[in-house]
Amino acid sequence: MAYLCHLLTPRAEARLLDGNQLGIFAISPISVGTVIAVCGSMIYSSDVLEHIPQEHMRTALQIEDNLFVQTIADPVDTYFINHSCHPNSGFLNAVQIVAMKDIPAGLEITYDDAMTNGTSRRRFVCHCNSIDCRGEITGDDWRQKNLQERYRGYFSPYLSRRIAASGLARKLKKNDVEKLLLDYDKSPVSSITEALQIVLGKTFCQWPDLIAALPIDADRQRLLLTEDSQHLDHLVQELNELRGANFLPK
Ligand SMILES: [Zn+2]
Repeated sequence: MAYLCHLLTPRAEARLLDGNQLGIFAISPISVGTVIAVCGSMIYSSDVLEHIPQEHMRTALQIEDNLFVQTIADPVDTYFINHSCHPNSGFLNAVQIVAMKDIPAGLEITYDDAMTNGTSRRRFVCHCNSIDCRGEITGDDWRQKNLQERYRGYFSPYLSRRIAASGLARKLKKNDVEKLLLDYDKSPVSSITEALQIVLGKTFCQWPDLIAALPIDADRQRLLLTEDSQHLDHLVQELNELRGANFLPK
């Protein structure tokens, strides 16, 4: 698995690996903090991405909970940066790849998919053969505590926010539920918003972002976004009975 990028530092070049795969290699020393590549091209939302064939997911870079950059392959000015479970580069922001350590000339430049992948649609078997190789790479790898430690500061910003939120998230307490039920008849959406902010740890997020972050299917999310009263009732009932335990970040 790899990402395509459009802009590459002159200190690196594409080379052919075994099996016709391309990789990016340092051709002169690259010091820590150097921006190595910038990815970018078409931006898709997750509902459009559902219709993109699985094989194209190999180059779909996730930049937000529901946004992906799909780089259009052009052999002249695009380059592959490969995944490794023991990488030497990470993400400076959503689209810039930066050296995490000094990289000597001749070494392949790699990143870890866990730094940017948060979707169940992107998973693959890794053959990096590093001492840290996880074997199967999934959109849940960013949840691993050891990876959160190792890549702190190098996650895509949307994943850094998810990691921070998972530390703040908690079940609703008795008084939270009482407040929710008391306010619900008057203003259903704002009372549920308040409860979801607690359960998801997303203190500053508003209705659409909270609904997008709920671990429920897309149809239910769509209906909640239209503020369908039956679905609002169902959600508030769930929050009351389970105190949000079923929505807590894993
Ligand atoms: Zn690996």
